[in-house]
Amino acid sequence: MTDLNQTLFDRARQVIPGGVNSPVRAFRAVGGTPRFVKRSQGAYFWDANDKRYIDYIGSWGPMILGHGHPAVVEAVQKAVLEGFSYGAPTEREIELVEALLKLMPSMDMVRLVSSGTEAGMSALRLARGATGRSKFIKFEGCYHGHADALLVKAGSGLATFGNPTSAGVPPEVVQHTLVLEYNNIAQLEEAFALHGKELACLMIEPIAGNMNFVRASVPFMKRCRELCTQHGALLVFDEVMTGCRVALGSAQSVYAQSIPGFEPDVTVLGKVIGGGMPLAAFGGKRAVMEQLAPLGPVYQAGTLSGNPVATACGLATLKEISKPGFFDALSARTQSLVDGLTGAAAKAGVPFSADCQGGMFGFFLLPELPQNYAKVMTSDSPKFNQLFHGLLDKGVYIAPALYEAGFVSGAHTADDISATVQAAAEVFASL
Ligand SMILES: *Cc1c(COP(=O)(O)O)cnc(C)c1O
Repeated sequence: MTDLNQTLFDRARQVIPGGVNSPVRAFRAVGGTPRFVKRSQGAYFWDANDKRYIDYIGSWGPMILGHGHPAVVEAVQKAVLEGFSYGAPTEREIELVEALLKLMPSMDMVRLVSSGTEAGMSALRLARGATGRSKFIKFEGCYHGHADALLVKAGSGLATFGNPTSAGVPPEVVQHTLVLEYNNIAQLEEAFALHGKELACLMIEPIAGNMNFVRASVPFMKRCRELCTQHGALLVFDEVMTGCRVALGSAQSVYAQSIPGFEPDVTVLGKVIGGGMPLAAFGGKRAVMEQLAPLGPVYQAGTLSGNPVATACGLATLKEISKPGFFDALSARTQSLVDGLTGAAAKAGVPFSADCQGGMFGFFLLPELPQNYAKVMTSDSPKFNQLFHGLLDKGVYIAPALYEAGFVSGAHTADDISATVQAAAEVFASL
C-alpha cells in the first residue's frame, strides 16, 4: 500500500522548507514520516492513510475541548457569516478581554494579538518601554516565541549575556538577554545582585512546557517575585501554553495557592484562549498597559488583531471550560493517564517519572523528575524515539520530541486513556 503521508511529505518538501510550516512537525528528532492530518473529531485525528490516532498534542495545547466541539463550531460558523475581518473594533473583543480579566485578576487590561510569538515580543517591548531599561532575564529551556531577542542560549557566565540560538540573529540583538538556569535560586540572586538595577523584566514559563514539563519550584517562584519587586523589574509570566490549560485561572492561580497574594506583573497568553484559531494576548496592570500606543510611547499594532472569527472561537472555548466541573474532570483524566503510564513503566522495569497539572502532562524516561533543561536533556533519546514510534504504530500520537509536553482534552474518555496505557505497556515491554 502506498503511504499517502509519504507522498504528501515528498510533495511538501519540494515547495515548503522541510515540508512543514513549523520545524517540530517534521519529525526530525524522532525520524520517520510526519503524519498529514486529513480530519479530526473529539480526541482523534485521521492521517492521509485514514489511520486514526488518539491525539495528545491537540495543536500543541489549544484544543482543550477536543476537535470540533459543537458549541465552538457553531460560534465560528455564526461569526464567519457576519464577516472575517474589519480592521475596526468589535464588541466581541471586549467580551473576550473581560472574560480573561475575570479568570486572571492580576490583569486590568489586555491587548489582543495573533500569535504567542507576537504576544511575547510585545510584552518584552512593553516591559522595556515601561521601565526604561534594556536588560532582561530568561531561562534555559523556556520558549517565548521566535522574536530575535528571545532566541538565546546561556553565555559563558553570569557577567556575560547570551548567544543567539538561530542564524540571522545578530549578537548585538541578544546582548541584553541574560539566560539563567531554571529553578536555580543562587544563580538568580547573583544575577539580580549584578544587574538588578538594569533589568526591565524577568520572563518565565511558570510551568515550562517547552522542555517537556518542568515546574518552577515554589521557593524559586517566590524568590523571582521578591527580587523583581525589590529591583523594579517586571515579572512576566509566559502562559501561552499554561494559560487556561493547567487551571482555569492559569499557572498564576496555582502559584497563588502556595504563595499568598502572588501575582505576575504581565501575563502572556495564546493557544487555549484562541481555541485553535490564531489569537494571543498580553495583559497587566493599568499603569503598565497604558504605556502602549495609542495612549503611550510603546508601539504595537496588528491588522488581524482581535479578529472576529478568532475571538468567537476563543470566547466559545472559554465558555465551555468555565462550566462547573470541567477542570476537575480534565485534571482527573490527565492524572489517570499519568498514573497509568507510571504503573505500566514500573511493571516493565523502565525508568520513568511523570507530572501533570490540569490538562497538561509530561513524562521522562528518567527515574526522577528533572528540574532544569540540562537534566531534561539527559533523557535516553533513542529509547524515547522507540517509544514514540511504538505508540504511533498503535494509533497514539504524542509529541515527536522528548522535550515537549502533552495535552489531554475534555473529549478524551476513560476508554481512550486505558487504550493508551495498554499501548504504552506493550511498547515498554519491548524497550
Ligand atoms: C507556543 C508558545 C509560544 C509561541 O506561540 P506561537 O503562537 O507558536 O507563536 C510562546 N511561549 C510559550 C510558552 C509557548 O508554549
